[in-house]
Amino acid sequence: MSDCIFCKFANGEIPVEFVYRDEDVFVIRDINPQASTHFLVIPTQHIASSAEVTDPSVWSKVVGRAVELACKMGLDRDGFRMVVNTGEQGGQTVPHLHLHLLSGRNFGWPPG
Ligand code: 5GP
Ligand code: ZN
Repeated sequence: MSDCIFCKFANGEIPVEFVYRDEDVFVIRDINPQASTHFLVIPTQHIASSAEVTDPSVWSKVVGRAVELACKMGLDRDGFRMVVNTGEQGGQTVPHLHLHLLSGRNFGWPPG
């Protein structure tokens, strides 16, 4: 999608450091981190939000890669949180599906 910042990262129009990348998914550091580790796990394909996912394999790729990365980095030792914000009240600000992978502090429950 032409005016989508995450698509511009995916197609190289805006340079960004990839923490991980394969043909389906890429991972970048959040520009405004909410914990000492805060990655965004993003499908390369433009999907506006979680509500727009029609192919369930998108979830296995996004969530699967997020957990693999978390375990590879040892984040499972103390724990981590995965979040997918959807829509206005869900706190979504970038309309291209992404999963937040956060670690490095105690997030507590329920969320604020
Ligand atoms: P949302 O609020 O949609 O769930 O999350 C969007 C996230 O994207 C926010 O945490 C925000 O900090 C991050 N973000 C927005 N613009 C950029 C950017 O240009 N670069 C990076 N690395 N992250 C961004
Ligand atoms: Zn996009």
